[in-house]
Amino acid sequence: QSNANGSLKTYDAHVPEIKFTKLFINGKFVDSVKGRTLETIDPRNGQATARVAEGDKEDVDLAVKAARQAFDHGPWPRMPGYQRGRIMSKFADLIEENIDELAALDTIDAGKLFSVGKAQDIPHAATMLRYYAGAADKIHGEVLKMSRELHGYTLREPVGVIAHIIPWNFPTAVFFMKVAPALAAGCTMVVKPAEQTPLSALFYAHLAKKAGIPDGVINIVTGFGRTAGAAISNHMDIDMVSFTGSTEVGRIVMQAAATSNLKQVSLELGGKSPLIIFDDVDLDAATDLALTGILHNKGEICVAGSRVYVQEGIYEEFKNKLVAKAKAWPVGDPFDPNVRHGPQVDKKQFEKILAYIEHGKREGATLLTGGERLGTEGYYIQPTIFTNVKEDNMIVKDEIFGPIMSLMKFKTTEEVIKRANDTRYGLAAGVLTKNIDMANTVSRSIRAGTIWINCYFAFDNDCPLGGYKMSGFGRDFGLDALHKYLQVKSVVTPIYKSPW
Ligand code: NAD
Repeated sequence: QSNANGSLKTYDAHVPEIKFTKLFINGKFVDSVKGRTLETIDPRNGQATARVAEGDKEDVDLAVKAARQAFDHGPWPRMPGYQRGRIMSKFADLIEENIDELAALDTIDAGKLFSVGKAQDIPHAATMLRYYAGAADKIHGEVLKMSRELHGYTLREPVGVIAHIIPWNFPTAVFFMKVAPALAAGCTMVVKPAEQTPLSALFYAHLAKKAGIPDGVINIVTGFGRTAGAAISNHMDIDMVSFTGSTEVGRIVMQAAATSNLKQVSLELGGKSPLIIFDDVDLDAATDLALTGILHNKGEICVAGSRVYVQEGIYEEFKNKLVAKAKAWPVGDPFDPNVRHGPQVDKKQFEKILAYIEHGKREGATLLTGGERLGTEGYYIQPTIFTNVKEDNMIVKDEIFGPIMSLMKFKTTEEVIKRANDTRYGLAAGVLTKNIDMANTVSRSIRAGTIWINCYFAFDNDCPLGGYKMSGFGRDFGLDALHKYLQVKSVVTPIYKSPW
């Protein structure tokens, strides 16, 4: 939290030793072929924390070769599902033995709250592995009711070599959303973490090996998107690219997939999610939820409730309460257990958010609170709320990916549904009301992959997450994610009439 002179108190007690900085290919930590490294930066102060191998095309080629060999000839796709599940459960146990260290790595890489990492992100990685471990021996096709004298059935087979491209905002959660179901399906893989946040992924490679995952099944290539990422999406021997990141890069990945080997593509992209609040709600609970909806993970969350629509009867009171709470929201060092909001991930993101704030002011929006950086070092931004915005303002249309809320007033259900759908995105939406008919109407009318009624960020391993419209396609979580890494083979044989 900031002190009188505006600088932020820093906590270094938890900063971990960084043990893994090389690429992980075929079960070994190795330097990149060109010997290059990239710097990771602590967003609390902008200072370098480590130098990590910078992978490029040659390294992607080696990683794909290892994954292909492990898929075509290795034990992983061939072992009984329960055995894959046992190894995945061991991987989960090892994660639980290292929670503090892993949470601290994500904090110094991404500025994420250490307390939340310890309580949520890292334990959740273990539960994801266990969820899919339990599904690994329940993968089967079906018997078909053929119309002629044919016997037909389907098999579900692993898609093959998968490339997972990961963003920086949830380095652990997105890693396991992708890796856990792909492992259960019997796929092998190359993972490219975001260049800003490679540290925990390399630690996970070490734990995977210790758990007994065979060499070549998980390979990690740390590096930049325009080099290592592009080499992945253009590769001729990758069967599928599972991408989470911005809509802009998702388009590039899909184009590259189309012009290379037509690899399958799954895109989990950006959002600009509406939160709709009717006038029958409890104001305290609703203001808390709306604030958490935009400030959790400092707004760097794809499903952030960045467009908040409040019904006119409660608008003034809601606004006043919301602003008072936003002003008291504790921002500061993410290792401080009292803080609820750390620094933005890096200088680029920090500057992009501040530029959007300036743009909002120029567009004539009213700044109710925030709007400035906090402190004199690091990438901290105040919780910021704009009102008097129009649907075509840039701050309402674009995904800002920061702690910036647009607060708007509405009259009727019909009107708010129309405005909420007036976006190119369709990732999530929230509706708060005690009226079940209203909740049902809104949830069926919003074109988005997830609708939360009287809650927000209610994630579950069993609950699919993914986009409509330009928020992408394909689902993470749930059995839908497992099926994404499986393909259906039909087997047909004639039924001959018995001569007896
Ligand atoms: P980004 O698109 O800039 O980068 C994502 C990944 O793609 C990184 O690993 C990056 O190195 C790589 N990349 C960049 N250029 C590439 C290229 N030309 N070819 C191949 N790979 C390339 O996104 P980001 O800034 O890291 O993450 C924020 C974005 O992710 C936001 O838009 C957010 O909404 C989205 N996101 C979506 C979900 C979801 O489930 N839908 C979850 C988390 C984040």
